[in-house]
Amino acid sequence: MSLGIKKNDTVVMMSGNEKGKKGRVLAVYNQKGQLLIEKLNIIKRHMKPSKKYAQGGIIEKEAPVYRSKVALVCPKCDKPTKIGCSILENGSKVRVCTVCKEIIDR
Ligand SMILES: [Zn+2]
Repeated sequence: MSLGIKKNDTVVMMSGNEKGKKGRVLAVYNQKGQLLIEKLNIIKRHMKPSKKYAQGGIIEKEAPVYRSKVALVCPKCDKPTKIGCSILENGSKVRVCTVCKEIIDR
């Protein structure tokens, strides 16, 4: 299953207490239908001391967000958009912004 969103896309939160906040996609989990978005949906984790975190304590990290909670922000018109699809003359499939009709993928 493809979510229509790729790594390094910009997305905006459409619900929850971070509604309207934008972030860059760090990772896409197609099978779970989730995305990891930079600086959004931050959770605090209590860590035991380890090699990586010698002191232990609390670290903050992004938690995955369901695809249905975000919308892609079009890099051309800068608006939240649904993703359309178009086939180029050379046969390759590209994503298209349904707001401004511009091709998102280059
Ligand atoms: Zn657009």
